[in-house]
Amino acid sequence: MKIKVLKFGGTSVGSIEAIKRSADIIHDWSKKSKVIAVLSAMSGETDRLINLTKSFSKNPNPIDFDNAISSGENVSCALMSICLNNQKIKAKSLLSWQIPIITSSEHMKSRILSINKKFLYDELENFEVLLIPGFQGINNKGELTTLGRGGSDTSAVAVAAAMESECIIYTDVEGVFTTDPNIVPKAKKINKIAYEEMLELASQGAKVLQTRSVELAMRKNTKLSVRSSFKPKKIGTMITDEKSVLENNTVSGITYSKDEAKITLSRVQDKPGVSSKIFGPLAKGNINVDMILQNISQDGKFANLSFTLPRLDLEKALKILKKEKSIIGYKKIISSNNISKISVVGVGMRSHAGVAQTLFDTLGKNKINIQVITTSEIKISILIHEDQTDLAVQKLHQAFKLHK
Ligand code: ASP
Ligand code: MG
Repeated sequence: MKIKVLKFGGTSVGSIEAIKRSADIIHDWSKKSKVIAVLSAMSGETDRLINLTKSFSKNPNPIDFDNAISSGENVSCALMSICLNNQKIKAKSLLSWQIPIITSSEHMKSRILSINKKFLYDELENFEVLLIPGFQGINNKGELTTLGRGGSDTSAVAVAAAMESECIIYTDVEGVFTTDPNIVPKAKKINKIAYEEMLELASQGAKVLQTRSVELAMRKNTKLSVRSSFKPKKIGTMITDEKSVLENNTVSGITYSKDEAKITLSRVQDKPGVSSKIFGPLAKGNINVDMILQNISQDGKFANLSFTLPRLDLEKALKILKKEKSIIGYKKIISSNNISKISVVGVGMRSHAGVAQTLFDTLGKNKINIQVITTSEIKISILIHEDQTDLAVQKLHQAFKLHK
């Protein structure tokens, strides 16, 4: 049985017209194979539902919360099925517990553990198209759970992996771009990108795919692509293994994130165990630290330690570190949230030197000061003043010739 797994995001099912347009895409695919379409809620709907739950309590019970916020996806599936059946296409909408899609026990950020593919194969004997709500599953207590914002991408990849099918993500952009076209109008669509590059781009701020969906696709070797439901004839971006990415540019893309904050602790004792006294309590507070920089003072006894974290967690982190002041032993704590992180990503960096040099050259010439640098095999990230974000992205895009 030939099966295609398609995913339609919020804007692709965001109105009656959008549902009709996406139904045409499903119809086209259904002429060649069976189709399983995983759908998001209509755009804005999940936010609306979240707001509704806050009408009575700031902290609604997680079970009720998930029941409420997962309902948008169910509506999309039912509407899509009605639309398709009206065009004489045999479609059926399913709820996640019917299949079931089993997740880990926690709410609001659960992980998919398994999908009963036999159920789906059986249903496909009788139907041309199945509609599955993304973003949710049920846990071992039979409670509905959700997968975290943007989780429908992960649902779609998980279904595709279970059915050993390819996964096509239909969204409102033509694919993955070399950088944000709002900042660099000459940004180009990338035809093929390696899982690992996409993973870096997704986690460094490019908002096309949920990071976890890319991780899952990489682990399961699921063929993944991104396309526009508004221009379905255009080939989008294929996300694949590194060997298949032939047009091996040294740098594939540049991302930025303005959701960062920086904390500096001055005159921290330079001795074993101090870092764990700093980062231990932060980890316990569920705060994800990203870049870390340490400078030793002249006399070698003290260090200044800076690190970055999500801007949303800044207040919480400051509170924790102030409470631990006497245990850690630092002189001053300084924080800033007017910073942004720029990352240059490409698997070609594994084999080509000189990327760092081009980057430093370009920023220096444009008087952009670098506060922190981190590198991995396929990525260089720098921290700069937020006001220089656009300039840095534009100049780097040019320097790495990504518009060509
Ligand atoms: N509807 C959910 C959200 O807005 C899941 C998704 O669309 O991927 O986060
Ligand atoms: Mg999304």
